[in-house]
Amino acid sequence: MQAIYTALFGLLGLALGSFLNVCIDRLPGERSIVKPRSECDACHRRLAASDLIPLLSYLWLRGRCRYCQTVIPKRVFLVELASGAALAFLCYRYGLTAELGITGFWALVFIVVFVIDLEQGLILNKVIYPSMVVALILAGFFDPPWMEGWIFVPIASAALGGAVGLLMFWLIAVVSGGGMGWGDVKLAGLIGLICGFPLVLLAVIMGAVLGGLAAVGLLVARKRRWSSGQTIPFGPSLAVGTMITLLWGGGISDWYIGLI
Ligand SMILES: [Zn+2]
Repeated sequence: MQAIYTALFGLLGLALGSFLNVCIDRLPGERSIVKPRSECDACHRRLAASDLIPLLSYLWLRGRCRYCQTVIPKRVFLVELASGAALAFLCYRYGLTAELGITGFWALVFIVVFVIDLEQGLILNKVIYPSMVVALILAGFFDPPWMEGWIFVPIASAALGGAVGLLMFWLIAVVSGGGMGWGDVKLAGLIGLICGFPLVLLAVIMGAVLGGLAAVGLLVARKRRWSSGQTIPFGPSLAVGTMITLLWGGGISDWYIGLI
């Protein structure tokens, strides 16, 4: 049965990945994510159901619009693949549990955060604020494994985590004089609400380190250059750091405490 559920959640993830692409395209503007139905961004022809099959349509059309031949970004394919793989893996890992629902939801939110920040250098309030409300509600009703084993009840752990994340990144933003954007500060607060205290520390430090390494790597490879005062997008690395923390954070912090 587990294999069947894993496959079904993989398919669900592929379908939701198509919806995430719509969110990624439309949320940075003022466009609705439900209306109008999907259309080509270049020629505005309404897309048929056969153009909207996750992964397969992209491969079949060789990454171009059926009508005007405009190139469809590779990201469309990659987002569908990532979201399908994420839900399949999480179902395999957690089975049909509340943890599957919670980590699956955050995986999808963080795919959106990751791609919008990478493409546009934006972390949107309309993504972060509603997510903060959801994180608080979830902490009020569930006791996920990453919040277990500490003296706090989950809602207190979430509130403290949110405050710590916000404060840490606010300090970094002030000290770095613009090297980190305010969107990252709010995102760190959200991550604290999701991971709780103390795992927020692991998530944001891992995110900051991964982001710094990626920036240095790109700089060395001369793929991208940063002038002084320009902000490095930390959203993608914070998103990755948070998902690693939710899945393996308990083990990582036990291992670290074992070292010292
Ligand atoms: Zn077109």
